[in-house]
Amino acid sequence: MSKKVTFKTYSQNQLSLLPPSYDDLVAANHPVRVVNYIIDQLDISALAKEYKGGGSSSYHPRMLLKVLVYAYLRNVYSSRKIEQALQENIHFMWLIGQSKPDHGTISNFRGQRLRNQLKQIFTQVVLLLQEAGVLSIKDLYIDGTKIEANANRYTFVWAKSAKTSRERIQKQLKDIWAYVEKVYGEEQKELNEPDFTAIDPEKIAATIDQINEALKDKPVNKEIKRKLDYGKKNWPKNLQKYKEQEEILGERNSYSKTDPDATFMRMKEDHMGNGQLKPGYNLQASSNNQYITNYTLAQTTADTTTLKNHLNEHINSYGESPDSVTADAGYGSEENYTYLEENDITGFVKYNYFHKEQHDKKRAEIPFLPDNLFYNEGQDIYYCPIGQPMLNIGIKQDTTKTGFEQAYIRYQAQNCAGCPMQGQCHKAKGNRIVERNYNLLRLKKQAKELLLLEKGVAKRKRRCWEIEAIFANIKQNMNFRRFMLRRLDKVSLETGLLAMAHNLKKFSAGPKLAI
Ligand code: SF4
Repeated sequence: MSKKVTFKTYSQNQLSLLPPSYDDLVAANHPVRVVNYIIDQLDISALAKEYKGGGSSSYHPRMLLKVLVYAYLRNVYSSRKIEQALQENIHFMWLIGQSKPDHGTISNFRGQRLRNQLKQIFTQVVLLLQEAGVLSIKDLYIDGTKIEANANRYTFVWAKSAKTSRERIQKQLKDIWAYVEKVYGEEQKELNEPDFTAIDPEKIAATIDQINEALKDKPVNKEIKRKLDYGKKNWPKNLQKYKEQEEILGERNSYSKTDPDATFMRMKEDHMGNGQLKPGYNLQASSNNQYITNYTLAQTTADTTTLKNHLNEHINSYGESPDSVTADAGYGSEENYTYLEENDITGFVKYNYFHKEQHDKKRAEIPFLPDNLFYNEGQDIYYCPIGQPMLNIGIKQDTTKTGFEQAYIRYQAQNCAGCPMQGQCHKAKGNRIVERNYNLLRLKKQAKELLLLEKGVAKRKRRCWEIEAIFANIKQNMNFRRFMLRRLDKVSLETGLLAMAHNLKKFSAGPKLAI
């Protein structure tokens, strides 16, 4: 047998009689064809209105939208890398036809034109996918994940620090005034005390002037004089800075100077293992059949306060409420249960201790837990573990950070002094008080019944592979762990592109379409 090595012909200058078109080079049912097919069906008239007209012609928004969605589907997020792909990648070339948009055009389209239109475009895509029978917007699985912002990790502003600095100025002013009073006290003279309750950038200069005037002809301690000079020069501008910071902070505890909409949060990805807080956003997503049906971005770390806004946005987008929602214990609050009830949504939503109740059998035997105290409904009296009546002593009204009102009925034991059980029973001083929120107890009971149904158990299992799989895909497969853009509106836009890319990637992996 011949051992001669034969190579295939290699000629870079070989000409074709009929050169292939890009279309010949793109496989049938390739994801780029799916993106092209779906975006061709969208109504982009609202997006077209973002163009003012006049001047030179613009690249077609449908083409640019296809480019961006396909780029996100291929894990290409920077406008310069997208431009490079448009020059080198046959699939991108097929998408753009004879157009040649550069990175500036892509960046401008993404950041300016698409910013206010992407949500309704995303909604249209979800509805098309629902028509294709791959998802339903009626049965949702909701969860959240934190994604790092495109912001410096060390340029933080803390609410506590702004407040403390303001209070420090206030205290220094009061100390100086005490000195003035001491000086005048020796002369037995009356003084008009400045208003220290509301120190603001406008008034503080006048207050310092008032103090300087009072000390005009007096021998003044050097340290006091130095403080007054420093205060006159710096405190008004410092107070102005704290005021502006507090306006940006709103209800938040922190923000980043490089992206003031980003809040410092603990991220799951903590490679250094030091629990360092990083500036980020709390991405909330709902899914069905591992497709994203809605996304919102929260600036708070807790998921609890995000559910209402997230579902309101779903209702705004689709014009109807979902039938059911499944979520973990992070969402099990009285406010959320009430919202679900008012909107006729069946909530398979766990609450704190749901798992403990199911798996920790000893919990039911702990006599000191409020849930295990004997309650006489007719008399409205609880009985403590040694049988002492705990009488209704009134209602405590509470308002949550989000403005939701809660009512707790308080019951108090008559005499805990000398009780041998006190160490185990409670740690407070005086007679033990228990607080019962009957509305929350009712809603939790309702949730528990649903969660323990066969359907509820199935939904709880499904929740793990529904939404968690989406976050894993975005962070691991799509390698998206940090936003490219800054500020809430642009980060929201990026999330929409990610969500569309995720959905269309999944759709293109499904049954083949006739396209
Ligand atoms: S400490 Fe008070 S409430 Fe607790 S068991 Fe004793 S008497 Fe009852």
